[in-house]
Amino acid sequence: MTVALLPPVSSAPAEFLADMEPLAEGPRFVRTRGMSRWHRPRSGVRFTNRDRTVYGCWCGYGVGGAFLSADEPPAGEPVCATCEGRAAGAGQDDSPTGRPLIFNPRHIAPPKNCPASRSSLFEELPGGRVGRCLACGDMQPLRAMGGPYNPRYAIVQHPTGQALVAPCPFHRWRQLTTRNGVVVCACGREPTS
Ligand SMILES: [Zn+2]
Ligand SMILES: [Zn+2]
Ligand SMILES: [Zn+2]
Repeated sequence: MTVALLPPVSSAPAEFLADMEPLAEGPRFVRTRGMSRWHRPRSGVRFTNRDRTVYGCWCGYGVGGAFLSADEPPAGEPVCATCEGRAAGAGQDDSPTGRPLIFNPRHIAPPKNCPASRSSLFEELPGGRVGRCLACGDMQPLRAMGGPYNPRYAIVQHPTGQALVAPCPFHRWRQLTTRNGVVVCACGREPTS
């Protein structure tokens, strides 16, 4: 039995992530032999140049190398409460108490304000006062920003539009840039949804 994993959100720069492939599914419970309790994977990566998988757990621990996995921990073995609560609260598994739990992991849902706000990620429309946001597709006013010594035009802060580009599995929408007029993550990774 596997559970669906969240993307392995990270702020690490591209060179640290080059040989990692995000995993879409993982075991329900994991622990290393040295751990005193079972944890639950929130995300996982596979290192493509080594035979190695590492899971990032809901509590913040990383579990990799020679680890144990289980659908259900052996009776009497303790489970990390942070992992159990957050996994259920985020909808990865059923609530252990039967009560509805809620946990909103950061950087998973699209941001309220478009990540291209106040940036040069726009395509200028005729007239030069309005641009089409390259990240979310909406038309928004352009404004002069920056100081007197480095004036630049930027698209104003605006709510995220419907056509937001797919996020990078690691950096989500936080490091968007343009390449040949198309918005991509600065790390060069293909976006996934
Ligand atoms: Zn844990
Ligand atoms: Zn936008
Ligand atoms: Zn990225």
